[in-house]
Amino acid sequence: MGIRIDIVTAERLVFSGDADLVVVPGVDGEMAILPHHASLMTMIQPGEVRIKMGTEEYYLAVSGGFLEVKPERITILADAAERADEIDIARAEAAKRRAEERLTSRTAAEVSGISAEAALRRALIRLRVAQKKRQRKTIV
Ligand code: ATP
Repeated sequence: MGIRIDIVTAERLVFSGDADLVVVPGVDGEMAILPHHASLMTMIQPGEVRIKMGTEEYYLAVSGGFLEVKPERITILADAAERADEIDIARAEAAKRRAEERLTSRTAAEVSGISAEAALRRALIRLRVAQKKRQRKTIV
């Protein structure tokens, strides 16, 4: 028996299933969570979520949010999240190009530079996750 994991956004349930191991992008680096983990609540940063179940591994891109861990259940409330199979690669590549252009043509507008860096980071995470092989549909 593994640990149940639900990944939700304000709009939808992105992933739901059982896992033997879940790796999440914590604010201080990657956090590995096994079944029966102590309860905790923390923030996550934009990055990759890896879910291991038996011999299979699934990948998702998340754009930051909250993580709640209980011994038998993990919940991630993400600002945005996509499973590897639903990432639109052309869209992420376009977002990456736009962000790079904004960064190279950066003038006095530092605020715009910061948001371009964040957009570039999201695009790079999506492209990396989309390249991972295993995919999985939601099981509700
Ligand atoms: P874009 O500039 O392409 O909109 P973004 O990083 O600004 O990218 P977000 O604000 O993080 O996009 O997300 C907005 C919504 O679009 C979310 O629901 C997110 O899941 C979805 N989304 C963003 N990029 C992609 C993508 N490449 N493939 C699939 N869904 C995406």
